[in-house]
Amino acid sequence: MKVLVIADEESKFLTEYYAENDLGNIDFILSVGDLPYSYLDTIRTNLKKPLFYIRGNHDTYKIGLFDKGFIEWKIVEISGVRIIGIGCQHRNGQILSEAEMRKKLKRLYRKKKHITRVDIIISHYPAAGIGDGQDAAHQGYQAIRDFVEKTQPMYFVYGHNHLNYGRKPRTIESNKTKYVNAYEKAIIEI
Ligand SMILES: [Zn+2]
Repeated sequence: MKVLVIADEESKFLTEYYAENDLGNIDFILSVGDLPYSYLDTIRTNLKKPLFYIRGNHDTYKIGLFDKGFIEWKIVEISGVRIIGIGCQHRNGQILSEAEMRKKLKRLYRKKKHITRVDIIISHYPAAGIGDGQDAAHQGYQAIRDFVEKTQPMYFVYGHNHLNYGRKPRTIESNKTKYVNAYEKAIIEI
C-alpha cells in the first residue's frame, strides 16, 4: 500500500502538474499540517483519493462538523491501516505545552489500550531528539517521543521542520519505527 504524506510547503506536483505525475497508485493521503485547507481540497479533487489530516501550529481554519478526514486525537482504520492522529492546538488555537501534550497523550494511550497494532502515528510536531530542531520553536515534544516508543508504530510521520532549514534526513530509523519528515511530500509504503 502506498501513502502520500504532505506537510508545511505546497507542491506544484500535486496541483499544477499532477496529471503528468503518476500518482494513481496512491491509496490515500495524510497531511500533517501547516497547509491551507484550500490546498488539501485541491489535492483531494486532483488525485481523487481519501485524505486525512491534522492541523499544524499555523492552521487556523475551522473544521466542519462532519469532516471525516479530520483525525486529531483519533484512532482510525483506513484500508486496514491503523492510524493515530496527534493534535497540537487548544480550542483557542494556542499550542499545547509539554505537560498538556503529555496529559492528552496519556488519555489517548488509554483509548488505544485494546489495540494490539498501530501502523502509523501522525503529528505536526516531531518527537524530541529525532529529526527536530535545536531552537525552542522547532524542538519536538518528549511526551510524543515516549508515546511513539511505547506504541511502536511502523511509521511516525511529522512536519514543522522544513528539510531546507539545514541538513536533515527525510527518514530516521529508531527502534522499530521509521520517523518520516513529510515536508512538502513523500511516499511511504506499508
Ligand atoms: Zn509548524
